Amino acid sequence: MAGIYIHIPFCKSKCHYCNFFSLASLKLKEPFLAALKQEIAQTRNYLSREEINTIYFGGGTPSLYSPGVLQEVAELVDHSPLGGNTSPPDPSPQGEGRKIRTITREVTVELNPDDVTEAFVEQLAGTWFNRFSIGIQSFFDEDLKYLNRTHSAGQAMHAVKLLQEAGYGNISIDLIYGIPSSTPQRWLKNLEIAFSLGVPHISAYALTVEAKTPLAWMIDRQKSAPVNDEVQEQQFRQLIELAKSNGFLQYEISNFCKPGMHALHNTSYWQGVPYLGLGPSAHSYNGRARRWNVSNLSQYIAGMANNACVYEEETLSPAQQYNEYVMTSLRTMWGCDSNKIISDFGFTIYDLFIAGVLPMVSRGLLTEISGVYFLTDEGKLFADGIAAELFVAG
Ligand code: SF4
Repeated sequence: MAGIYIHIPFCKSKCHYCNFFSLASLKLKEPFLAALKQEIAQTRNYLSREEINTIYFGGGTPSLYSPGVLQEVAELVDHSPLGGNTSPPDPSPQGEGRKIRTITREVTVELNPDDVTEAFVEQLAGTWFNRFSIGIQSFFDEDLKYLNRTHSAGQAMHAVKLLQEAGYGNISIDLIYGIPSSTPQRWLKNLEIAFSLGVPHISAYALTVEAKTPLAWMIDRQKSAPVNDEVQEQQFRQLIELAKSNGFLQYEISNFCKPGMHALHNTSYWQGVPYLGLGPSAHSYNGRARRWNVSNLSQYIAGMANNACVYEEETLSPAQQYNEYVMTSLRTMWGCDSNKIISDFGFTIYDLFIAGVLPMVSRGLLTEISGVYFLTDEGKLFADGIAAELFVAG
């Protein structure tokens, strides 16, 4: 099994907190598409012909392209030598060409609410998209303005409604907590609205102040209040509590879903499933090595035109693989399995792991069932620090 991630590097404008690779100019929209198609055609053996289980269009803003254009890219991926396509194309007249060849089960596209118009939703008919991730962030215009989002709260609600009315139920919404312009009451209202929408998946992230972003500049120049860690922690606790009472599982620190509705693609990242990233800045992982494409659109386009290598690669040492396993697995509801640590990394690393986790169990940060370790609700507040304490050198 493997996943394909496709990075669409354009946005209408840059959000103040964002440090993802994307450009606010659409000038290279067409050349990028040609380069992406070239990369799909060029990339062959990275996934060793694994079956493709998920395709994810992220960014940036994929919904700056029409559903038809994105579908064309998905079909190219499906018909390329990227994956081990086990079943032949559908020979029936209705199925020719449009029928998905692989066993792909989830095809996700990230959407910005202001792109989700009646026309856009109509164009989704006949495409493979069966999961939609909408970047809402807040249901309050004041916060959206503070973050420099391009949509309004009304457009966010309308986007969800349009998709639901068209019969698309597998919808995820993104929210951000700890926004300095917001208030604890507004965050609670955001949660209330989110849980009332009937969507089965919510991703909620703490606002992070990344270096060199307008947000960092605003805070440095005292044009904005700083992010308040205590408020952020309180809002995270409220999120966990309300998610539980609304029947959502916290299957990853920042991801909540109704039972069975977890994101297959994102889950595969946390479970060490190989994936290939296409497009500038996209990352890939094949179980042994990690690689990342250049974070520069002109270089990416030129590289593809010249059949040149546009990525750097690093082979992971056993210690790095172990650290990655601990960091990602602990964040999920499936936990960190000490039996897997023995089988994959041996007893020396296992002994270090146990020596690290036992005091954390005593402090109520971790809990253990049959050799599998999980973060407690208290531990979830310190997930990164806990993982870091368990890391080994090498
Ligand atoms: S829409 Fe997403 S990728 Fe684009 S600037 Fe905003 S946060 Fe960044």
